[in-house]
Amino acid sequence: MVGIVEVSPRDGLQNEKVLLDTGQKLELIRRTVDAGARRIEAVSFVHPRLVPAMADAEAVMAGVNRNAGVRYIGLVLNGRGFERAREAGVDEINIVVPATDGFAKANQNSTTDALTELAEDLVTQARAHGIYSTVTVAVAFGCPFDGEVATERVIEIAHRAARAGADEIAIADTVGVGVPTQVRTLVHGIRDVAPEPVLRAHFHNTRNTGYANAFAAVGAGIDWLDSSIGGIGGCPFAPAATGNIATEDLVYMLDRMRYGSGLDLDTLIDTAGFLSEALGARPPSLLPRAGTLGSRPATP
Ligand code: ZN
Repeated sequence: MVGIVEVSPRDGLQNEKVLLDTGQKLELIRRTVDAGARRIEAVSFVHPRLVPAMADAEAVMAGVNRNAGVRYIGLVLNGRGFERAREAGVDEINIVVPATDGFAKANQNSTTDALTELAEDLVTQARAHGIYSTVTVAVAFGCPFDGEVATERVIEIAHRAARAGADEIAIADTVGVGVPTQVRTLVHGIRDVAPEPVLRAHFHNTRNTGYANAFAAVGAGIDWLDSSIGGIGGCPFAPAATGNIATEDLVYMLDRMRYGSGLDLDTLIDTAGFLSEALGARPPSLLPRAGTLGSRPATP
């Protein structure tokens, strides 16, 4: 069994050209809950000027069903974002620390070391407020500015986050350059220095290695995978980054391997259709086109 964190409302929508209104976002989240998702990255508490698509984070959090047994996650980049997340009542925060100074400068106008320190501080604050915390190491597999990323650097950030008491460590292939051997090396390397935290991985399918990486992560013993319905998404600060791996394509693979994801494929496919209409473009996922085994394709 591997858990799936649905990230379409956050990572998916933040880089789409079409902005969904709050009602459409709540509809997406409601459908995701119906599909069986139990952890949803719903919003990002970043400055609205930087990411206009997330400007209604508070309104989204105020509108989600809090009695559905779902944990709602808010992405946080700094202390102000943490305060907003706490006031909005998120169940979890996801704190981002880029593994390279090049990305840290472009994304957060800072350095890896300074952002790791900030993450340690935010983890401590989250614990004091009873909020579950994830530290995500961004560009853990390679950086559009600094190129190759040393494994030791990623492991060092994970180690520091674990020592600070992070509940979960995530490794993110923010720009979709990773390959399966890297996944194995990183998961095992982090597990060695940080045996306590839950492990999670985040893949983009920019170079068609996303699903191979997800499979490698499952084999290496990862606990949770991020994905977005339709495979929508990107990163406003990462040049040419494309969508996350698609939830329905991932679930198809996991279900047929009998790993079980707890998600309902038909509801996911319907939701990909909803997104396709709302965004006015066919999303990159393939299952809605091909259909499940033995079914007729929904859209030929
Ligand atoms: Zn991402």
